[in-house]
Order: sequence, then C-alpha cells, then structure tokens
Amino acid sequence: MSTDAQLRDDIVEIGRRLWLRGFVASNDGNISVRIADDRVLMTPTAVSKGFMAPDMMVITDMDGTLVSGAPGRKPSSEIKMHLVAYRERPDVRAVVHAHPPLATGFAVAGIPLDRAVLAEVVTTLGSIPIAEYATPSTQELPDAVRPYVKVHDGLLLANHGALALGADLFGAYYKMETIEHFARISLVARQLGRENLLSREEVDRLQGLRGRYGISSPAPICVDETPGTTAPGGDASCQVIYAPSAPGDRLVPDTSVAQGAGASPVGTDGEIRLTYAQLTALVDDAVKQVTEGLGLKR
Ligand SMILES: [Zn+2]
Repeated sequence: MSTDAQLRDDIVEIGRRLWLRGFVASNDGNISVRIADDRVLMTPTAVSKGFMAPDMMVITDMDGTLVSGAPGRKPSSEIKMHLVAYRERPDVRAVVHAHPPLATGFAVAGIPLDRAVLAEVVTTLGSIPIAEYATPSTQELPDAVRPYVKVHDGLLLANHGALALGADLFGAYYKMETIEHFARISLVARQLGRENLLSREEVDRLQGLRGRYGISSPAPICVDETPGTTAPGGDASCQVIYAPSAPGDRLVPDTSVAQGAGASPVGTDGEIRLTYAQLTALVDDAVKQVTEGLGLKR
C-alpha cells in the first residue's frame, strides 16, 4: 500500500505528464485516488495540473465533503464524476480526467472509439464509448457517465474530454495515454482513407487472451457487426466493439470511414466517387423520374 506522501507525489507527477503532453490546458483536468472506504485524495480546483505541489491536494469523504486540505483549497469541480466511478466500481481505486485534443475531437464529432482496430486496445480497454453531453460540474455529468463506468475503464465525454479508471493512479493515467494514442492512430487511418478492422473471430481470440494474461476488465467484449450501433446508453453489460465476421481472416478491409458524413464524393483529381449505396440511390431516383415522366407506375 502506497503511503499518503507517495500518492501525493504520484498525483503531482501524473499532472505534470498530462500538462506536458498537452492533454490539458489552463486548469483543466483532475486526478483522484481512493485512500479508504470513505476517503478520496484529489487535485484541488483552479490549479494547472502541470505545476502542482504535494501539499495542494485535498481529502474528501465519499459524498464529496472536504475533510482536509491546505487553507483555501477546495476539491475539483468534477469531484462527483470521480465519486460515481468509485461507487459503481469497487475495483477502481484511481480516476484521471483530461481533455486530450484528439480523443476530445472524436468526442466532439460524436464518433466513439469502438471499432476493432488495435489488438492491445481490444484486450485492455475494449471499446471507448461516448457518454452523452452533460454540463460540466453539475449533477448531469455523473448521471451521464454512470451507465458507462460500470463496464468501461475508458470513455469519452461528448463535447468535453475523456475519463480513465484504474486499479491505481498510474494504471488510470496509462489508460488515458492509450485512449489518446488510439485516437491519434484512428485519425491517421481515416485520413489515409481506410481502416483494416480486426475480424470478429480475431476479437474472440483476443478476448481469450485477456484471461490467459490475467488482464482485468470490468466486462466482456460483445461484438457488433453493424457499424454505428454501438452506443450502449442505459445499462450496458458488455463492451460493444464493431468487428465484421470473416472466418479464416484476421483483418477485414473497411473503407466506410472515408465515406462518412462530410466526406466529399469528389476526389482531388476531379473524379466523382460514390459508394454502392449512393450509386443505387441515384439509379433509383433516375428510374423514378423517367417512369413518372412517362406516366407509368413502378
Ligand atoms: Zn473536464
């Protein structure tokens, strides 16, 4: 068990790393660790996470009431979001919240990181869904994250940032790094125009590795073969990942990400590119106009 002094030093160090990596600006973000059944040590409000000192931290009870801290120091404004994670997940002993720009970009675009792309993300975090938008520092935010923290160690907060949970402080921090790293890789793949996805069968194999390597995760992976339907909402019981079935194949080419909303159908060379669905819709429309013009009923 880490000492109080060690935990304070760890929070200072993690805050410094969040700031150095550009995961927070100004006074964004907060870090906490559960030190007893009814005690949480956390960053105070209104400080840059890059320049903290161990004696700045505050201790609260599980209702968020200040128990001890240097004069004038108050708990983080997002304390309720941390407390709901501890309440829902006794295995969670540390929480890190930040606004890493690439992951937050996905949260702003409303695109969850829930596609089977990287083996280590599938085995460790599973999927990274987006909790619905909620006004920061109100009761709305803990209410929005509650259904997700039950089954996920990492999630995005719509138009806000990201949240990572862990069995200890560095465990939670490393998950925040993984979320942002995954977002960066996903963005590059999408800019390049395609993602090769892990097949459903490969995801099942990776899920088996979780057990063999003793990777702890709050819920099993359940594979969804329909993209864009993975927002669990409500009380999900598994980590929903999009992975197409392809018996015998480990990777499945997928170009749909480059053809999502907002993508121009006109290439840089002036060639017009359409998906099969777009082409079918165009043909249907043309046939309809012709048949209507001739007074015929289809
Ligand atoms: Zn925030």
